[in-house]
Amino acid sequence: MTNPKSKNSSTLENQPPRGRRDGSNAKPRARPVRSPYSPAEVHEIFRRFSVQRPEPKGELEHINPFTLLVAVVLSAQATDVGVNKATRALFKVADTPQKMLALGEAKVGDYIRTVGLWRNKAKNVIALSEALIRDHGGEVPDDRDQLVKLPGVGRKTANVVLNMAFGQHTMAVDTHIFRIGNRLGLAPGKTPEQVEQGLLRIIPDEYMRHAHHWLILHGRYVCKARKPDCPVCVIADICKAEEKTNDVPAPLVEIAPLEPVGEIQ
Ligand code: SF4
Repeated sequence: MTNPKSKNSSTLENQPPRGRRDGSNAKPRARPVRSPYSPAEVHEIFRRFSVQRPEPKGELEHINPFTLLVAVVLSAQATDVGVNKATRALFKVADTPQKMLALGEAKVGDYIRTVGLWRNKAKNVIALSEALIRDHGGEVPDDRDQLVKLPGVGRKTANVVLNMAFGQHTMAVDTHIFRIGNRLGLAPGKTPEQVEQGLLRIIPDEYMRHAHHWLILHGRYVCKARKPDCPVCVIADICKAEEKTNDVPAPLVEIAPLEPVGEIQ
């Protein structure tokens, strides 16, 4: 939930923009919205997630950083289940940029025909394989600026790859994390990047490695979009969401990994 606009906002908007300290007319950057959670509360939220799922895994199957990158590119507007079905056969014959390029766009298209937007994605998979060979010696770069230059790769995809393949403390904000950041007020923001920055500011370092997966899984299976399942929520006593229906936290026990749900990313 974002903060409501102040009653005075229209008056303020009508005032001429104030100059910046550096004297430039550049637009001032939006102030980050403060999280209403204390550091101790944020720590406790992630401690409980870490007890529930000590080693959370992403649900996209992959063999190496390259196949992870391809799987994440294919997962836009598609389900993890659908992507896994297509990539199981594809990665058997092409698990490097060189092999993918040799396979060619038409054959890649044949493998991924069941995945939404497959024509465009086949083009991107070939183009990003070419770019990896040309600019990075066939390796996936561990740098966001380089990753987002690759065809079909945006900030979210880059963050997933940096986190899962290289262990970097990134936060890839998908629909679940965006909703949780705003619904709970953990990191309110109007854009995924604002939520990303808010979460990066408050999550303790020790939990950053897995925070992205914990939040996705919490959003996917408990704090669901239509109706949060508060009675089974382990952070119900800490949560400050207006929609919450229960204050008593569910028992804190380790839970077995679930089968991926067929959900559009
Ligand atoms: S108590 Fe309800 S609203 Fe709050 S995090 Fe849990 S499921 Fe979501």
